[in-house]
Amino acid sequence: MARPTLVAVDDDSQVLRAVASDLKHRYGEQYRVLAADSGAAGLELAHKLRLRNDEVALFLSDQRMPHMTGTEFLAQASEIFPRAKRILLTAYADTSAAIEAINQADVHYYLLKPWHPPEEKLFPVLDDFLDDWQAHYRPAFDGLRVLAYRWTRDAHSLKNFLARNQVPYRFLDVESVPEAKNVLADAGLSDAQLPAVVFPDGVVVPNADAPHLAEHLGLKTHADAELYDLVIIGAGPAGLAAAVYGASEGLHTLLVERDAPGGQAGESSRIENYLGFPAGIAGSELSRRATAQARRFGVDILVPQEAVAVHVDGPGRRTVFADGSEILSHVLLIASGVSYRRLEAPGLHELTGTGVYYGAAATEAPTVEGRDAYVVGGGNSAGQAAMYFSRFARSVTILIRGESLASSMSQYLIDQIDATPNITVRNNTRVVEARGEKNLEQLVIRDGSTDTTEVVEAAGLFVFIGALPHTEWLDGLVRRDPKGFVLTGADLVDDDGRLRNWPLERDPYPFETSVPGIFAAGDVRSGSVKRVASGVGEGSVSVSSIHRYLAEL
Ligand SMILES: Cc1cc2nc3c(=O)[nH]c(=O)nc-3n(C[C@H](O)[C@H](O)[C@H](O)COP(=O)(O)OP(=O)(O)OC[C@H]3O[C@@H](n4cnc5c(N)ncnc54)[C@H](O)[C@@H]3O)c2cc1C
Repeated sequence: MARPTLVAVDDDSQVLRAVASDLKHRYGEQYRVLAADSGAAGLELAHKLRLRNDEVALFLSDQRMPHMTGTEFLAQASEIFPRAKRILLTAYADTSAAIEAINQADVHYYLLKPWHPPEEKLFPVLDDFLDDWQAHYRPAFDGLRVLAYRWTRDAHSLKNFLARNQVPYRFLDVESVPEAKNVLADAGLSDAQLPAVVFPDGVVVPNADAPHLAEHLGLKTHADAELYDLVIIGAGPAGLAAAVYGASEGLHTLLVERDAPGGQAGESSRIENYLGFPAGIAGSELSRRATAQARRFGVDILVPQEAVAVHVDGPGRRTVFADGSEILSHVLLIASGVSYRRLEAPGLHELTGTGVYYGAAATEAPTVEGRDAYVVGGGNSAGQAAMYFSRFARSVTILIRGESLASSMSQYLIDQIDATPNITVRNNTRVVEARGEKNLEQLVIRDGSTDTTEVVEAAGLFVFIGALPHTEWLDGLVRRDPKGFVLTGADLVDDDGRLRNWPLERDPYPFETSVPGIFAAGDVRSGSVKRVASGVGEGSVSVSSIHRYLAEL
């Protein structure tokens, strides 16, 4: 955190040097002292300081300067730093101008030149003013500031990127936060350049997005080497575990993540069922630890970088990234996970994780204890979740778009739901809005059969509308099941007991895909159990198959 600043302004260089030197001598430990040789230069300096989120405690300006008098300068400086103390330095002849300035121009005090000895004529006055300033001084936030309109997708994804990569920031909504308007003016930014990010050293990144910011934050987006033993795509639990095991067992390993290390697990507020953490652990904390562990073993990590294609070049596996760069490896591990299909309606995005949950959210039972919960989806997972939450919530309402659950849910679950008094099923309904300040408070629900909307109190919304594997970048490369999940090992054997298009004498190893030397682990793998522990298990175990493959090269 930079020290607060004292600004001295005088067009006479000798006087300016003398006053700055006295100020440094007395206050240099606690304050930074800066000098400007005109009113205009002083104002320019003040704008720069405000852009860097620095504070000015005191402006000390000579009155008699060409172009802009001290009084005029102090009046304009007070608009930039309203709390700064404003003091005029005047010659005896200008005393009446100084008194007028105090009365009319909001100048706090005037001092006569010369001020020697300063111990008697300068410091006692400044001490008083600075003590007063310090009494109300709250150090400004010393991190990134994100400037954007609050409800824009760009703003959300930027905030998400920073939060998930654990970079502290302050969000300034340009519509409602006065400070945002000042920063926009100081940086000379227009609306078209939003979202923008201001770094503590005053560097401004207009039209900020994740790749731009990564560069400024020192995150690595390009690999050091041209060839790796193992390239892993996706830094969720499976990818991180494979990276730790691979590197700790001597493999030169590169881990590539398009968003932030941690994957879905990183989005979980508390993982309660992961072995060894009896009180649960925040997903972000687990990710931070795993990433540090991977780095300790020498894993190169690229964030954010997205794999968009893979080519097989003889024994080499060549991965192409979104920015056109490429990397060669002996082995590729696909650990790109899944995303739960998202509901689209205002407010849902912002409240995800604070009342709106996708997929496995059993840990959120306390959130709905004694309150009203909503479940979206008509499949078995939605039914099981409704049954589960009915044990805690006052009421559970299942919202489905169709006419009934019959076509999508097993009968045994429908029977259980019918027999549970605090579960209601509402057909022909959809969520059109989620509301809440910090967490979900209300849902707006549209009933298609009556063509009406209704606002309901809701403590939790649990969405179960299917998981989509991140495999679009693997088109035409490896075999996948009808839902797009990657087939591996014994699952590659067809019903007739034959392996289609498999080029080797041996069978595929566990976790090996239809292309030798390309493996898959975690949620993206067909048949996987979609849990943190199983992702970690698969990632770790796949490394033993990878060693067997490498031994054949
Ligand atoms: C909100 C939430 C809460 C959960 N809570 C629990 C819980 O309490 N207990 C539990 O056991 N399970 C929980 N789960 C499930 C668990 O998080 C997942 O099963 C687990 O994260 C799967 O790990 P993974 O590594 O296979 O995939 P993911 O975690 O999905 O990670 C895959 C990663 O690959 C990246 N990626 C995808 N495509 C590319 C590409 N082309 N290039 C580069 N990177 C790419 C993604 O950005 C992602 O970071 C929860 C899931 C969610 C969403």
